[in-house]
Amino acid sequence: MNAIGVDVGGTKIAAGVVTPEGKLLNEVRYPSSGPTERLLSSIARAINDVGDGYEVGGVCLAVPGNILATENRVVFSPNLHTIENIDLKKEMKGRTGLDLTVENDANAAAWGEFRFGAGAAYDHLVFITLGTGVGGGVISHGMLLRGAQGAGGELGHMTINATGPRCGCGNRGCLESLASGTAIQRRAREVAAEEPGSALGRLAINRKVLGEDVTRLAREGDKAALSVLEETGMWLGIGLAGYTNVFNPEVIAIGGGASAAGDLILDAARREVHLRAHSPARDLVEIKEATLGPESGVLGAAALARDASGEYVLGT
Ligand SMILES: [Zn+2]
Repeated sequence: MNAIGVDVGGTKIAAGVVTPEGKLLNEVRYPSSGPTERLLSSIARAINDVGDGYEVGGVCLAVPGNILATENRVVFSPNLHTIENIDLKKEMKGRTGLDLTVENDANAAAWGEFRFGAGAAYDHLVFITLGTGVGGGVISHGMLLRGAQGAGGELGHMTINATGPRCGCGNRGCLESLASGTAIQRRAREVAAEEPGSALGRLAINRKVLGEDVTRLAREGDKAALSVLEETGMWLGIGLAGYTNVFNPEVIAIGGGASAAGDLILDAARREVHLRAHSPARDLVEIKEATLGPESGVLGAAALARDASGEYVLGT
């Protein structure tokens, strides 16, 4: 049976009807801006519009931030405060007539990669998304690690450097503060100021440097830009070495906008994992790019909706 996956982000809501094989049959997008009441009606409209004319067996709402899955609500969402502390299942039941489940967006994306993407051939996967923030999800023995309250798998907020930069969560030196797209931009500004004669330094005099600029200049051989991505990869690798030791995954899949830098970041991360993680886990783990792109949230949420209904037997 088809299912609806809804990915609610800081700027937009994407909803899709997805087949059991992971094919996207229909998709709609609406803005997630405005006060809470408008956000809730936009989510409901996305669900109603996308599912119109399709037979649908379940709905899962993937939401950003710290969730309390047992109460179907978001406790804290730094990029979407309007979604906080609302019983989303109850609100959506009233507006759409449908029962839905609530999941953290990165957990849903991890499930998407596990069912249909980079982790499809494996039972043990760690997924990391490098975007504005850093999200993560863990699949072990074919099951999504949720923890006691559904709040587990927050890999982006593991402390990597106790005296590192301030993170959006208020802590210092989280992986997110050192390896997100935002962190790459911040570090690029610093390196540009230290090396004004580099291509990166010259660009920064004229305009704001974006993550994709750093990748482009690094590909062109600019040492300053290369050093920013290598340093990012080192911090990422310190995190991944920890996850390798803790979860013993077969694959670590890296997605999100900043993953477009590919091996410019990942080679440094692999080196760090090799140095820091323990054998035999470090010898098994393969660190590679995720394959689903920005659709992983919608695809994963839809698969979770279906899997929660019992169609996919967890752990098999
Ligand atoms: Zn943090």
